[in-house]
Amino acid sequence: MPRDSGDPQENRIFFGGPIRTLRDGLSVVEAVGVRGDRIAATGSRSEVERALTTTDGRRPRPFDLEGAGLLPGLVDAHVHLENLGHRLGLLDLDGVDSLEEACRLVAEAARGLPPGAPVRGGGWSKSRWGDRFPTRHDLDRVAPGRPVALSSKDGHSWWLNSEALRQAGLTRETVASPGADIQRDESGELTGILREYGGDFAWEEDRQASPAAAAALSAAKLRRAVAEANRRGLVGVHDMEGRDALKGLQTLAADGGLNLRVWMYVPGLVLELLAGVGLESGFGGPYLRLAGLKVFLDGALGSESASLLEPYEGSSDRGLDQMTPEEFSRIVARASAERLAIAAHAIGDRAVRCAVDAFEAHRAVWQAAGLRHRVEHLQFGHPDDIRRYGRLGLVGSMQPIHAPSDRDMAERHWGPGRCASAYAWRTVADAGAVLAFGSDAPVETCDPLQGLYAAVTRRHPKDPGREPWRPELAVTPLEAVRAYTVGAAWAVGAERERGTIEPGRLADFTLLSEDILARPDDPSATGEILLRTRVVGTVVGGRLVYDGRTGTQASGAE
Ligand SMILES: [Zn+2]
Repeated sequence: MPRDSGDPQENRIFFGGPIRTLRDGLSVVEAVGVRGDRIAATGSRSEVERALTTTDGRRPRPFDLEGAGLLPGLVDAHVHLENLGHRLGLLDLDGVDSLEEACRLVAEAARGLPPGAPVRGGGWSKSRWGDRFPTRHDLDRVAPGRPVALSSKDGHSWWLNSEALRQAGLTRETVASPGADIQRDESGELTGILREYGGDFAWEEDRQASPAAAAALSAAKLRRAVAEANRRGLVGVHDMEGRDALKGLQTLAADGGLNLRVWMYVPGLVLELLAGVGLESGFGGPYLRLAGLKVFLDGALGSESASLLEPYEGSSDRGLDQMTPEEFSRIVARASAERLAIAAHAIGDRAVRCAVDAFEAHRAVWQAAGLRHRVEHLQFGHPDDIRRYGRLGLVGSMQPIHAPSDRDMAERHWGPGRCASAYAWRTVADAGAVLAFGSDAPVETCDPLQGLYAAVTRRHPKDPGREPWRPELAVTPLEAVRAYTVGAAWAVGAERERGTIEPGRLADFTLLSEDILARPDDPSATGEILLRTRVVGTVVGGRLVYDGRTGTQASGAE
């Protein structure tokens, strides 16, 4: 192998644990060498060492895995990154067992904020606190001089302090709208509890925010989300968001603080604007790229707005279409001709059929353009449509954790018969589609280990004792890991750059405490391994951006 003449500080060798390249099946190499942000060599430790030693004898910097497993970096193929950062910034009172503890957490949150800034959060449940509603006075004591607004766990009540009531313009004279309740004490004073009030609160701080301040707020949320993703072992995400997130991500990328590869799917309504300036899927830089357009075909199962071929169980309702098949077909034709990929949100079987019909009708155009159209969620496809879908070689963008989370709701709304093909990643893969797995964070956690667990066991990692839900629809551990690596790369046309460990590809790795592919034929053994697996490190572009052994996070560019 030729010797390297570059700066040895830039050359590194990773060794000392099972390194799964995903190049062919389960093969393992002893070492991987990195030069700059790319993989330079793989093989035995001595081979890689030799390949990365400079002509004047300087050897690559060693990185001993100390038994940890190294995989191609995991990518979450469906997140809402800015929204995840927003949620992470909220005070989480879920599971808090007493009013005193809740107030202590509010005081702690307030101490970390600038004067006057609101404390926002939620998740409280009065059933844990003797079933009495708290009051504004509890909050006034611990967070004076700033608004506090906390939503209940079920989302049907708000708990506000006096400053929040004042800024929201709520007084003892305020009359609640029909169906809502503004709680009062015996003397008619507001208690701070609003029931079925709806909406969110915008405080003076938000209303007065200049565009620059709004951008700074968005960047702060994204920084939090990027740190969380790295902490979970993610090297990249496919982000389904719009203007604010894109502006914030550009700020982070320019500052060198974007330690995550982000592919953006922007709202479909900007199709003509993108076409007008000639932007195509793939436009961007090494950390931030335009992936395509997100289009909604239906709603969600829980709200009975997923669009179905046959009515919901015990109902005559078939859900809500977000557009007609003709409209979607027109969008696919136009986007394909402009080299823009479509990510179509389709949950119900009628929405999935609408997607498959349009993709099939215009296949000649998008196949010639090398585009990767995809369906997001694909939770209830009719078996006939899944077969057609697979034949087209499209991407099935699915979120494994949804299945064990939604199983009871799915059986109730869709019925046991139809659930034989629900959240059916096995069937989607067998039909010939490429799986790309994700989380839909913050709807679910972005932890890929939990997603992998759900994908191979059809169980929820928080409830591993429950019988699996339709285990025949599981994929193998290798297929599941490929859906977070090779599949996620293919979904955005980046398969030559990433997804496997081989020379020339980007040096993005996920380091895990266990070899999660050690028991490839045994889903339950793999499940047990996954439950005890911890993230040891996250490497993006050859740099350790998260060190799980010390809990340290890189702050930005080196
Ligand atoms: Zn989503």
